[in-house]
Amino acid sequence: MRLDDYPTEPRFSATVLKSEPINDEGADVEVRELVLEVDRPEFHFDIGQSIGVLVEGPKEFGESVHHRLYTVADTPPADSKSKPEVTIVVRRCNYIDDYSGEEYEGVSSNYLCDRKPGDKLSITGPFGLAFKVPENKKANLLLIGLGTGIAPFRAFLKHIYQEVGDWEGKVRLLHGARSGLELLYMNDKRDDFALYYDEDTFEAIQALSPRPNWADPIAWDYAIENRSEEILGMLDDENTYVYVAGLVPIRDALDKVFANMVGSPESWAKKKTELKEAGRWVELLY
Ligand SMILES: Cc1cc2nc3c(=O)[nH]c(=O)nc-3n(C[C@H](O)[C@H](O)[C@H](O)COP(=O)(O)OP(=O)(O)OC[C@H]3O[C@@H](n4cnc5c(N)ncnc54)[C@H](O)[C@@H]3O)c2cc1C
Repeated sequence: MRLDDYPTEPRFSATVLKSEPINDEGADVEVRELVLEVDRPEFHFDIGQSIGVLVEGPKEFGESVHHRLYTVADTPPADSKSKPEVTIVVRRCNYIDDYSGEEYEGVSSNYLCDRKPGDKLSITGPFGLAFKVPENKKANLLLIGLGTGIAPFRAFLKHIYQEVGDWEGKVRLLHGARSGLELLYMNDKRDDFALYYDEDTFEAIQALSPRPNWADPIAWDYAIENRSEEILGMLDDENTYVYVAGLVPIRDALDKVFANMVGSPESWAKKKTELKEAGRWVELLY
């Protein structure tokens, strides 16, 4: 689905309640968690869905109002009486223009990272596929997130461990980042996943780049192939769901690693198609 296909109406007003960085100081990227209060009690969202944010920006970049999506990083509120709070994770994006070689600030991400508590926003949605929480507590979950792709899994884990409880299936969270400093919610400042380290069923696995200051790709192969027996066993179990979120290049990177593990690109393409058809491999890529 293209961004233009997402409707920009209806629009809701939301107020910024909180904005704080969630990666380690010293990382050369800035990623912030924003908590928004939506001025509309009936705004309901599910895990894995995204909200839209409308930002007025310079006309030379195209439209005068820019619409961008952000995945919700927390579970929906239990009661529908109060105004709902939505948590999003935003990476401040700057990009280099191919033609001029000049660096531009991403309109929406910079706008959001600069907001302060009390500021008002215009939002849309919620949109998109919700990662389904399996009804069977024995279901295994392989959650793979690259960068800000960790956002939906923060919500997902909170739901299964704090709201459902007694999860019996294996849960493996693979988080990819260029360096330990860029790992979101998994650093000295904030380790939200530490809440689940005592759960017998839970394990967090980090996939980092071997040389963070170089343009080396993240070593998904090292992180995944190191436990190929367990992961292949999980894929063969009909009760395993694989959810993948983050930037589009993660798709090719994972295809390469899994093709290696199952023996060939053809065998992996066949296996992945089967998993997708059974709703056991779901991607949220942007
Ligand atoms: C379904 C969906 C869910 C999304 N969820 C999130 C989310 O939870 N958090 C989030 O920060 N973004 C998310 N995005 C991306 C977001 O919508 C914007 O594209 C991003 O914030 C850049 O917008 P901009 O206006 O600042 O920059 P633009 O002027 O549009 O330029 C963006 C530049 O930054 C790159 N870029 C875009 N997103 C990222 C990212 N997350 N990490 C690294 N580089 C990036 C782009 O390739 C491009 O080069 C999501 C996109 C989709 C389609």
